[in-house]
Amino acid sequence: MKPPILYSGLALDRSHRLRRDADLAELVARPTARFAPYWRGRQLLSDTPTAVVWLDRDQIPATIDPGQAPCLLLGEDSEGPLLALDISAVPGGEDGPDLRLGQWVGLRSVGSRLPASDAALLAYARGMLVWRDRTRFCCVCGSAVVIADAGHSARCADPDCAALHFPRTDPAIIMLVTDAEGRALLGRQPAWPPGMYSCLAGFVEPGETLEEAVAREVREEAGIQVISAAYAASQPWPFPSSLMIGFTALAEGGPPTADPHEIEDVRWFRRDQVAAFGEFNAPGPDGLFLPSRDSIARVLIERWLEGVLEKPEPNR
Ligand SMILES: [Zn+2]
Repeated sequence: MKPPILYSGLALDRSHRLRRDADLAELVARPTARFAPYWRGRQLLSDTPTAVVWLDRDQIPATIDPGQAPCLLLGEDSEGPLLALDISAVPGGEDGPDLRLGQWVGLRSVGSRLPASDAALLAYARGMLVWRDRTRFCCVCGSAVVIADAGHSARCADPDCAALHFPRTDPAIIMLVTDAEGRALLGRQPAWPPGMYSCLAGFVEPGETLEEAVAREVREEAGIQVISAAYAASQPWPFPSSLMIGFTALAEGGPPTADPHEIEDVRWFRRDQVAAFGEFNAPGPDGLFLPSRDSIARVLIERWLEGVLEKPEPNR
């Protein structure tokens, strides 16, 4: 079954045991090791079919030593260990360094055209490498860190501190809010392309549950009171380090009021109005369009349009 949420459904053994027991330098040196390269936010994909390009050791640019460059274990298959390798130190023009194996592309620009397991693998690799890139110093004492667990943890190099740091996943809630009339509350941020409307969303704050975060964000961004909320689905979102936790929420109606600091406009839309929304490159009659197909926002809206989104009970 095709996973309904892009960037999920990883078909790879993450090999927790190898991660813990093996030495990264030894893994990198294995002749069976293969590397998914990453260059300045982009990943290498073949053209036909659109798929992850794996490099053998001898295909890695000569200026990169995978024992020294940011590199981490993703998992293993029947042939050997699979690693993510950051080769951002290699010079390259607009198209990136020419490895004669494919194109360097940003994951979001190609996500929905990828096989589901490849999209999940690239999301996993991207999330890990971005964390690695941003975890050079201990946030407790400021000392440098030493990478451990085949790239999956970082320990402070100062023995008096020795704090351990792990890859971040920041919980963010995203919700399809409906009222008693069956309308959906959609808004837009000023930074979005004109005409795009989507679900409200925000980060979970310390000291609140997911349901409380849903109610708070809807109140803050739209001035609307949530009555109840129910979990719908989640999505890894490594841009840079979120886990999107999708909810459906039932709210009191009334005119929404956009938070001027975060939201440019927020409105109740009837189902037939949303059904007429178009795509980014082909907006609907009012110039409105839905978020990209790779996003959980789009999935929640499509499920609501089809009538298959779970409705929260009013008294839950
Ligand atoms: Zn420290």
